[in-house]
This record gives sequence, C-alpha cells and structure tokens, in this order.
Amino acid sequence: MAEPAPQRPDSPAPVAELARELAGSVQIRHVDAGSCNGCEVEIASAFGPVYDAERYGARLVASPRHADALVVTGPVTRNMEVALRRTFEAVPQPRLVVALGDCARNCGVFAGAYGVAGAVGDVVPVDVEVAGCPPRPEAIVAALRGLTGR
Ligand code: SF4
Repeated sequence: MAEPAPQRPDSPAPVAELARELAGSVQIRHVDAGSCNGCEVEIASAFGPVYDAERYGARLVASPRHADALVVTGPVTRNMEVALRRTFEAVPQPRLVVALGDCARNCGVFAGAYGVAGAVGDVVPVDVEVAGCPPRPEAIVAALRGLTGR
C-alpha cells in the first residue's frame, strides 16, 4: 500500500508556468552524469510502491526524445559533459531540468576532483534543485510534484 499523499508543494513561478503547459503529466529521462549511485537508490525508492511518484503524473522514460524533463544526478564528469549536453538538446521544448542531489547542485563531495567538469548548472540550465546527499524519497517526490502540479 502506498503512503498517504502529503499536501501538494508550491513550486516557484517559472516552473509552475511550465508545469501548467505540461498539463500534469511529466515524462522524465534520468541522466547519471557521474553519481556514486546513492541518488539512484533513492530515485528507485521514489518510484517504488511506497512513495509511488507515478500517482502524481511523473514517469521515467527511456529516451530524451520522449521526455519533458531531465533529472540529472552526480557531478558532471568530463566523460559525461558532452553526453549530458546532447541529451538536453534531444528533449523537446518546453523542457525542464532537475539537478538532484548535492553533487548535481554544486559537485558535493566530488568538488575539485580531476575528473569533474562541474555541477549540472555549469553544463545545462537548471530549473529545480533537490538538496541532500542523497535526497530522501519524500524530497524527490515533492520536487516532481512541483513539475506535474499534482
Ligand atoms: S549527492 Fe551524495 S548520494 Fe548523490 S551522487 Fe553525490 S555523493 Fe552520491
């Protein structure tokens, strides 16, 4: 049985406007740009039966061409910089980018590492940030509800 739905969080004005255009159904392409995999475990939990992010209109898809939003984890490694930029360009507009986890926001514990090109915001424009190392599933679901408006 899924947890009872908490109250819908408010999202900042530009995101809320885009969310309205997406009409409550947001397809998400996840990109691991260099994560330790901790954030992925929590994303899996957010989409699992307890937190069940899909009931709010968020769904993971396999191709950026099918997506409305990118959820990016990890610092952006040098090997993933071009791939992330190309994935972003493959998402049709209007598109949103979520930087999920402290590494995605500001490189976190990997700041200054030789293989790190930068934070997600240094490579593609970021609309929403989710803090935490890793963020809890509740925080991930809340951020996704900000995109779906549900
Ligand atoms: S924020 Fe923490 S859990 Fe997520 S990729 Fe970075 S080190 Fe791993």
